[in-house]
Amino acid sequence: MVKIGEVIVLDNGRKGKVIGILNCGEYVIETEKGGQIIYFDTEKDTIRKNTINTLKQILSRDYDEQSDCNEEALVLKIAIKELEKQIAKKPREKHYEGEGEVPYIKYKCPSCDGRYSLCDIQDKYCKNCGQKIDWS
Ligand SMILES: [Zn+2]
Repeated sequence: MVKIGEVIVLDNGRKGKVIGILNCGEYVIETEKGGQIIYFDTEKDTIRKNTINTLKQILSRDYDEQSDCNEEALVLKIAIKELEKQIAKKPREKHYEGEGEVPYIKYKCPSCDGRYSLCDIQDKYCKNCGQKIDWS
């Protein structure tokens, strides 16, 4: 069992300190950069998606989404973004075929548009933003 105060390695490879325990294996984590995220210890994408929807509903019901001045709205937006990154997305691919060249594909991160070189293709997470990548 994870305990409050324990430092755990998140599945994006970063470390976080547990500062709260919620139901269903959900933890409130303080990240190395000082931000707070809700983290699930298992591959529960359904819970992640439901949580994202709930947070989005609260955001549009209680806050002006265009305004960045409200601290609570900002926390909600960050939580939504972090949760979305934990759901694997397919990389963007662009096909190239120059004259007299062998056709090739370039891959980009679907979240931050960061470019992947061929040696990054094995990475489960974007090195730039932490987005989980589905290479299947
Ligand atoms: Zn990225």
